[in-house]
Amino acid sequence: ESFEKNNTSVNCNVGTIGHIDHGKTTLTSAITKYAAKSGNSKFVSYEDIDHAPEEKSRGITINIYHVGYNTHKRRYAHTDCPGHADFIKNMITGTSQMDGAILVVAATDGVMPQTREHLLLAKQIGIKKLVVYLNKADLVDKDILELVEVEVRETLIKYGYNGMDIPFVVGSALLALQGEQSELGEPSIQKLLDTLDDYIEIPCRDLTLPFYMPSDNILSIVGRGTIIIGTVKQGIIHKRSYASLMGYNDEYKCTVSEIQIFHKSVERAYAGDHCGILIKGIKIKELRRGLVLCAEKSVNLNNYFEAELYLLNKNEANCLIKPLVSNSLLTMYCDSWLTACRIDLPSDLKMLMPGEHSIVKLVILQKMPILLGQRFTIRQQFSNETIATGLITKIKE
Ligand code: GDP
Ligand code: MG
Repeated sequence: ESFEKNNTSVNCNVGTIGHIDHGKTTLTSAITKYAAKSGNSKFVSYEDIDHAPEEKSRGITINIYHVGYNTHKRRYAHTDCPGHADFIKNMITGTSQMDGAILVVAATDGVMPQTREHLLLAKQIGIKKLVVYLNKADLVDKDILELVEVEVRETLIKYGYNGMDIPFVVGSALLALQGEQSELGEPSIQKLLDTLDDYIEIPCRDLTLPFYMPSDNILSIVGRGTIIIGTVKQGIIHKRSYASLMGYNDEYKCTVSEIQIFHKSVERAYAGDHCGILIKGIKIKELRRGLVLCAEKSVNLNNYFEAELYLLNKNEANCLIKPLVSNSLLTMYCDSWLTACRIDLPSDLKMLMPGEHSIVKLVILQKMPILLGQRFTIRQQFSNETIATGLITKIKE
């Protein structure tokens, strides 16, 4: 309890999502202003947030603003994007990961198209916890607030969220930003922060997931075995455990006989560690960068899956971006592997235009161990220029 109370070193990543003009930026600014009063953040003005700096991620330009604030329980890193396209790109590229999101819905409008689009993406990228801030409550009657709440809960359920359990905070971000003390003003921000503290869980930072390490480099040493060099993406690998080396249609069972981090032998390596792992017991047909060392039976080889794909716009790409049509032959690049792929659009979509996103079907030439939520890029086959970025949303057996 007492540990939890002052543990502001625990970081939780959140962000605002929702339809344009529903008050995301006003709310973000209001939170920093409120938290600044108790010395727990620096106030960031609406104008500063709305002129978010440009960031580049996988060749994509995203305008994104990061603010930070503390509650008595933990530290928050919060992101807000100025434009709808920025939100979409941020969610697909994962430039700022979110442990939870604040869905802002203006009570004056209710659920709007971008509310739905952000919810769909939030679900796809695996955001498990949402909190709703029902904004602009200063402009509507109580009856309307209740109706909008029902509508939002129904929409949440439609997108696969536990709509009946998700907490709602009713307020006015604008009044809060103006320092208003009555219920809809600052108290609504305190309520929102308490709700985030209680409801958003921080994931175990991937340590509890099965071990998975893509190889950056792989070499064989006669008489010793095979050394895989890479960064552990998730889980923990122990010396003397069994593992599978997978990729390019093949799967080899092996034992981990040695783990080294910075030339020092260790008993185990954790997610985030860059290490060299010596494996024994296998004869590999072809040592190829991109093979993945993973926990036994934790993932299947696959060549067919669905993904959310964002096609770069003209300014983001280094080459001419043509509209994407079904049956396009391209190269998929993921972790450290690449393979030829075919992309098919949904039957009701003739072409995907630059700057647009869609669910697509992908077939890759060689079977790889694919994880749900894995991010990748798509390049042109010969020029090797990046034209799209995506996120795996569904794996077909
Ligand atoms: P965003 O596009 O979701 O970031 O929305 P903004 O934060 O830019 O807000 C859009 C407009 O709504 C701005 O003119 C705000 O001043 C106004 N606004 C935001 N929150 C409230 C609110 O609670 N009450 C009222 N009356 N206006 C608000
Ligand atoms: Mg905004």
